[in-house]
Amino acid sequence: MQTKIHYHPGDSALIEAVSVLRAGGLVAFPTETVYGLGANGLDREAAKKVYAAKGRPSDNPLILHLYSPEQAERYAYTCPLYYKLALAFMPGPLTVILKKKPIVPNEVTGGLQTVALRVPSHPVARALLEKCDFPVAAPSANISGKPSPTTVGHVIDDMDGKIDMILDGGECSVGVESTIVMIDGDDLSLLRPGAVTPEMLAPFAARVLIDPSLERPLAGNEKPLAPGMKYKHYAPRADVRLLKGDEERVASYMMRYKRCPYVGLMTDEAHYHALRSKRTVCYGKDAKDEAHSLFACLRAFDGMPKVGTVYAPLPSKDGIGLAVYNRLAKAAGFTVIDVTGFAER
Ligand code: AMP
Ligand code: MG
Repeated sequence: MQTKIHYHPGDSALIEAVSVLRAGGLVAFPTETVYGLGANGLDREAAKKVYAAKGRPSDNPLILHLYSPEQAERYAYTCPLYYKLALAFMPGPLTVILKKKPIVPNEVTGGLQTVALRVPSHPVARALLEKCDFPVAAPSANISGKPSPTTVGHVIDDMDGKIDMILDGGECSVGVESTIVMIDGDDLSLLRPGAVTPEMLAPFAARVLIDPSLERPLAGNEKPLAPGMKYKHYAPRADVRLLKGDEERVASYMMRYKRCPYVGLMTDEAHYHALRSKRTVCYGKDAKDEAHSLFACLRAFDGMPKVGTVYAPLPSKDGIGLAVYNRLAKAAGFTVIDVTGFAER
């Protein structure tokens, strides 16, 4: 299949994209979190094409993208807490899980009786959704298991020849996927951490409960609340290992591998100068910056054919740091090396 790419899409490209979607085709588009792989969310055949293009397991449901929070009424049973969250965080990087209405096909929800809804804020996503008289079901536009795409180049790498159209919208500003919450009475359960942090959600709920799958590997009989969180994710080809210990100890541990052709290093701005090499990637000065460039950094190691292991500091779990921690821990299969006892030779 020939994939049409629209750089800087204007009105006519967006109108074309809507007709592709309406006809059951697939269009990748930018959002403020990551690029999405869009399909008509009421068309079960189009949803099946999304799973096929990504190689995504069919029990991993898709998020419906809407132009405005009120459109949720057509697809789900809403509640006052949904509207409080909508007022505070939509449009923006928050996904809310609600009980679904029958109009939403089971193929979209992976057979669940709930549906995930989100109102993105990226101008291209908004311009596209405004023109759609249907919700757009869109998972991240990557091959399943690979880091999510945050530039049009990443989407082209994974989806060229497999989908009808790609809309460019520059680099995604947030860089990690949306925060996902489920409403349970007055409580909120956090199913996936993102730019809307537990601290930001706390004023709206009696309790913000953190799904254990976000912070540790699950035992064989445990299931995460978001089916997608059970799969290995975000991983580059190399094995990722997280280093736990104080900053200087971690940096001196990494220093040993600076000249090793088989090891890649991920570091913050403060230590980049000392650790700089062809295989060292700097992912920012603070947690927000790290979230923004995390997936591009992980993808960069795939361009270093000899690198078989990547070392990165264990991120802090404060604020958006929890989202960075969760993605990196999953990329590393939760493998953490404690370097506290490491002594410089
Ligand atoms: P992606 O769009 O690739 O970022 O993945 C969507 C994420 O949302 C996956 O982790 C899904 O498991 C999760 N998700 C979507 N719908 C639901 C739902 N109804 N209940 C729980 N999790 C959901
Ligand atoms: Mg994804």
